[in-house]
Amino acid sequence: MQASRDDLAALLQLQQIDLEVMRQTKQLEELPQRATILSVRQKRETVEAKRSQVAALRKEAVRKLTRITDEDASLAKKEAGVQAAIEAAHGDFRNAEARTKELAGIAKRRASLADDHDAAAAELAKVEGLEGQIERMVADLAEQEQAAVESFQREGGALKNGISQLQAQRSATAGGLDPEVLALYEKAAARSGGVAVGRLDGNRCGACRASIDGGRLIDLKAQAPLGTCPSCKRLLIIA
Ligand SMILES: [Zn+2]
Repeated sequence: MQASRDDLAALLQLQQIDLEVMRQTKQLEELPQRATILSVRQKRETVEAKRSQVAALRKEAVRKLTRITDEDASLAKKEAGVQAAIEAAHGDFRNAEARTKELAGIAKRRASLADDHDAAAAELAKVEGLEGQIERMVADLAEQEQAAVESFQREGGALKNGISQLQAQRSATAGGLDPEVLALYEKAAARSGGVAVGRLDGNRCGACRASIDGGRLIDLKAQAPLGTCPSCKRLLIIA
């Protein structure tokens, strides 16, 4: 078919632009930061689930410690009361004996509570240690996520800019091209999903490399300077 030198040059330029847009778009889609951000967010979810588990453990440990402290405080009060009663009883030995037994019982329970208190305090300290670790992990992951997001915005932004510049160039190039040739190019590009124009290379299509037999080659050459590959239907520039 008829095409001017400018049309052929514009066709090749269009193809170059389109391939570059495809390359940069793929690069944008495959930026490694996407996977990094996703994986960091997943880790954060896991750590946050652990954080709420540990918060529940802490609540339980505090409750236990409070229960022990409260019981001990009430026993201390009772102990003081019994002691005062013993002192007030003076010579009443039978009464004093029962009170002394009661005192011993209280002391025994308080000793056992002191052990429980130590164990509960140790448990609380352990849980607080875990909490500290989790807080550091959360902070660390937040920092990693932010860095990946910033890097993604920077690199992705540069690619998006590049792509929109190429698209502006493409419009200008397409605008200068014969509309019929442009329509053929768009069709071939949509079909091939990539390279849409080749050059005839001897008796082969420069794009799909198929050899074109005698009769078809003669027909094709009659279409010079622009024909269609009988094999892959791409546009062929016939020099
Ligand atoms: Zn071909």
